Amino acid sequence: MFDIMDFGIGEFTGDSGSDSSAPSGPYIPEASECMRCGMCVSSCPTFRLFETDMETPRQRIRTISKVLVEDVPISAEERGHLDNCLQCRACETACPSRMSYGSLFDQARMKLQQTVARPRLAKLAMYLIEHKRRRRMLLPLLSLYLRSGLRKPLRASGLLRKLKLANAESLLNEPALGSLAGIYPVGRRQRQRGRVALFTGCLAEHFDRATQRAAIKLLNTIGYEVVVPEGQGCCGAIHQHNGCSAQALKDKNIEAFYELEVEAVIYVASGCGAMLSEYQGDDSETAGWFGRSLQDINDFLLAHWPDTLEPAASNLNVAVHEPCSQRNVLKNGRAVHELLRKIPGLNIEALPDNQLCCGAGGSYMLSHPDNAQQLRNAKRQAIEGSGADVVVSSNFSCAFYLNADRAETALKLVHPIRLLADRV
Ligand code: SF4
Ligand code: SF4
Repeated sequence: MFDIMDFGIGEFTGDSGSDSSAPSGPYIPEASECMRCGMCVSSCPTFRLFETDMETPRQRIRTISKVLVEDVPISAEERGHLDNCLQCRACETACPSRMSYGSLFDQARMKLQQTVARPRLAKLAMYLIEHKRRRRMLLPLLSLYLRSGLRKPLRASGLLRKLKLANAESLLNEPALGSLAGIYPVGRRQRQRGRVALFTGCLAEHFDRATQRAAIKLLNTIGYEVVVPEGQGCCGAIHQHNGCSAQALKDKNIEAFYELEVEAVIYVASGCGAMLSEYQGDDSETAGWFGRSLQDINDFLLAHWPDTLEPAASNLNVAVHEPCSQRNVLKNGRAVHELLRKIPGLNIEALPDNQLCCGAGGSYMLSHPDNAQQLRNAKRQAIEGSGADVVVSSNFSCAFYLNADRAETALKLVHPIRLLADRV
């Protein structure tokens, strides 16, 4: 198994693993303030899987309190239950004390991670997430492998399992090569209303190019020039949730977008957006500007959609999957429904059991494949039972995981803006 949870990127980055920018800002209850009321328990996907108190947010908060407040060692068993967390943050939404579980978890993970030796393969993966040029150099090889016909015999040989790469390999699909970086102007006959920048992320830049092109097309169509700065990189979510400092990635992104003279920095994937929206640093002018400029693509399109622009009608039945990052962090799921209503005739329903995580959980699909696959199976059943012609999801990671390794005929998830982009 490719164990991304045990990363040691320090060897590559010189990062000691400590974070001088421990989350601050709005009041964050300390882990010791949990009332142990249990209101969060039934919302937790791992409690649903294991039905034991050790797999509840309440118990994890107790473990986090030992790490952060009492500063006492925790057992391997407690560590295992803590690591089983998907970081879906459904417990935050359920908690009457507004316990900031996500922030507390990240702080505890960072403290614990300082003492752990990490596998080389995991270190390499994190290194590639950090280094755009190196990542791009590998993509043609990946593309060649996927097209070569080697995939079937290699899978059958058992070598991938021996190398603990079988799970990661099963998720692969054809990457887009090259870069999107540049300026995308509005059409010659159109009046330009403004200028915005697009955040493309790390993996989504290559594995969700169609959605990013749809974003550019729609923004151009409603009159906005789009700038895609080459200097941007990964949002840092995978680093932060795995106990590594994401500060260098945050600083790099803020710097890449600052002074572009744009009125908004727009993200497409809600998982990246959740991380970007919680960038906290030194309260500098640049960090403040970034926070004020950040906008979700669904929100931006909805707020700036011209009254005169009517997409082509469609009678498709659409089920809306609501990613945890959108539901529990950004809390802007209604924008998707309202935006899709711009398409006349569309029948739009929420996917049943939207409150339950699909299992992707950033790197969780790699670190805990058995748990992740059980949750994915449940989500796929909900999708198949929905009767939908199309399922939409605003998070790249969820769609990537739910679409992976499926028959070509299976119902695929797409970002909601792709339905719009196809009809304008
Ligand atoms: S709902 Fe909040 S206060 Fe209650 S047990 Fe869960 S984390 Fe603690
Ligand atoms: S973040 Fe999700 S998986 Fe983790 S304790 Fe909270 S509800 Fe459970």
